[in-house]
Amino acid sequence: MTSKIGTLAVYPGSFDPVTKGHLDIARRARETFGSLIITISRNSSKNALFTLEERAKLLKEALQEEKIEGVEVAIFDGLLVDYVKSRGARVIVRGLRFISDFEYEFQMALTNRHLLTEVETVFMMPDEKFIYLSSSIIKEIALCGRSPAQFVPKCVAQALQKKFK
Ligand code: ADP
Repeated sequence: MTSKIGTLAVYPGSFDPVTKGHLDIARRARETFGSLIITISRNSSKNALFTLEERAKLLKEALQEEKIEGVEVAIFDGLLVDYVKSRGARVIVRGLRFISDFEYEFQMALTNRHLLTEVETVFMMPDEKFIYLSSSIIKEIALCGRSPAQFVPKCVAQALQKKFK
């Protein structure tokens, strides 16, 4: 696949669990930047439903299911900018849904730029049909006994069913 910009990008998040919204951003980032690493921070485990390893496994399965190729999934310790630097990446990708995402993302992007000047945070918008999706809404739907199958890849729907059985 030819990318629009040949560089390595990192897409960080909690992915607890990965949704079709996350995957939409991953596809766009992969097509834009060429090389992509999806990373889960070890710090993002507080109150998580899935363990880090489960989340990474689900991400890998979901990428396969959605036929998004050539994306690495990794878990990192410490600060995101240190991980980005250690991998020689120059771009951090984040997804933007609503104005409510903006304040936190703005703060993070500017802080990361102060910590690592050569890094650029790039915001991508998902297809409108995924704009309202979040991992927490998915978990709530599953917890209440309804199927979130239309919002998540099959492997995640199955994993949620198992968790809440
Ligand atoms: P975090 O806890 O770091 O916000 P998330 O896993 O919730 O981690 O989200 C990771 C990134 O994906 C964030 O940039 C978030 O805004 C984005 N994201 C989450 N859900 C969607 C969605 N439905 N559409 C587009 N981007 C999304």
